[in-house]
Amino acid sequence: MKTLPVSTFSAPKGTYDLLPPDSAAFLAVREALAAPLRGAGYGYVETPGFEHVELFSRGVGESTDIVTKEMYTLTTKGGTRLALRPEGTASVLRAALQASLHRAGSLPVKLWYSGTYYRYERPQAGRYRHFSQIGAEAIGTEDPALDAELIILAADAYRSLGLTGVRLLLNSLGDRECRPAYRAALQEFLRGLDLDEDTRARIEINPLRVLDDKRESVRRQLAGAPAMSDHLCQACKEYHEQVRDLISGAGVAFTDDERLVRGLDYYTRTTFEFVHDGLGSQSAVGGGGRYDGLSEMLGGPALPSVGWAVGVDRTLLALRAEGVVQDLPSPTDVFAVPLGDEARRELFAMVTALRRAGVAADFAYGGRGVKSAMKSANRSGARYAVVAGDRDLAEGVVQVKDLGSGEQSPVPLTAVVDDLRRRLA
Ligand code: AMP
Repeated sequence: MKTLPVSTFSAPKGTYDLLPPDSAAFLAVREALAAPLRGAGYGYVETPGFEHVELFSRGVGESTDIVTKEMYTLTTKGGTRLALRPEGTASVLRAALQASLHRAGSLPVKLWYSGTYYRYERPQAGRYRHFSQIGAEAIGTEDPALDAELIILAADAYRSLGLTGVRLLLNSLGDRECRPAYRAALQEFLRGLDLDEDTRARIEINPLRVLDDKRESVRRQLAGAPAMSDHLCQACKEYHEQVRDLISGAGVAFTDDERLVRGLDYYTRTTFEFVHDGLGSQSAVGGGGRYDGLSEMLGGPALPSVGWAVGVDRTLLALRAEGVVQDLPSPTDVFAVPLGDEARRELFAMVTALRRAGVAADFAYGGRGVKSAMKSANRSGARYAVVAGDRDLAEGVVQVKDLGSGEQSPVPLTAVVDDLRRRLA
């Protein structure tokens, strides 16, 4: 038989496997990011991993890097053009529109999601081709308190994880009233700069995104660019002031960032990004904003909305960068070590009973010797080992060993489940 090439056994470039014990930290991060949303009236939504290509080309924007360069697309055998989802907002809004959630109850429709996303990017530390996000969308309502709510929930989630180095950058991109005049002023400024052909083309399609250019040679030339804040209409100014007041009132610090336009086309008014300085060039741990026009772009009714997405992978990297040690529950509380066949039967039954009683329990499988089984017990992180041999069982007891102190005492087999539950409570 021919052996398979090694590459068959390595994950594709830009992806990684989540394995124990790191996977436990990952799950805990995801849970911590979602918890504030559940407590604020957001309901869980799950959409497919792939959608029609047009959803993203229309929803995210024809001129964005995500659509032009980074989308994984495929044609099915039936000839349908699909794309692996590069982000969550367009899908969630599509799902809400399809189910008419905006008509079914009161507005806003508040949804949260958790999933994996795919972008064909150049992989580097913190930037993957397959990554995880927790996201939230509040659909159908224009209210600065809603923008503030979402920002505060994200800030609280980072704080609950013990992160102290997350900074919030805030901006307003204006609306249909004031953005066109700003856009024109910006275009005029940009046309006078020394830029490459691609960037010059971008000036005509989406000039705001030129402000997002990370290249030093471009950034230097952008120093004198007109600022959106000088062009905001009265309504946008007042709206933005209210958002700022509300988040300040909640004790969430922020920095105004005129250059914050974000990589997606659909944003209006409030935009924000959470960054962490311990992550090198991929510093964004989360971001979002208001997207009042997206529903109409997708062919739906006017549904002003706001949302964010937080990167789970990068949040975990930020925790590591800060040296935060997560308080993770041990995967196992009790580890059973049977010595002999009868003990195997009795302790297997005990493990099942413990699990049914809500105690995390594991068992020394494979009929190993006591030494190797005790090693497994210690490695498992369990607080107690339950050891039993023929002599113990003849006396109707098992030995409960505290793996921390090494103390051991006999406990009647019939009482051991309750006894362990009490000790662990
Ligand atoms: P975006 O939709 O680009 O604003 O992404 C929202 C968040 O997802 C970012 O702030 C990152 O934390 C995370 N993210 C985006 N792209 C990637 C990627 N390629 N690899 C890892 N995390 C990512």
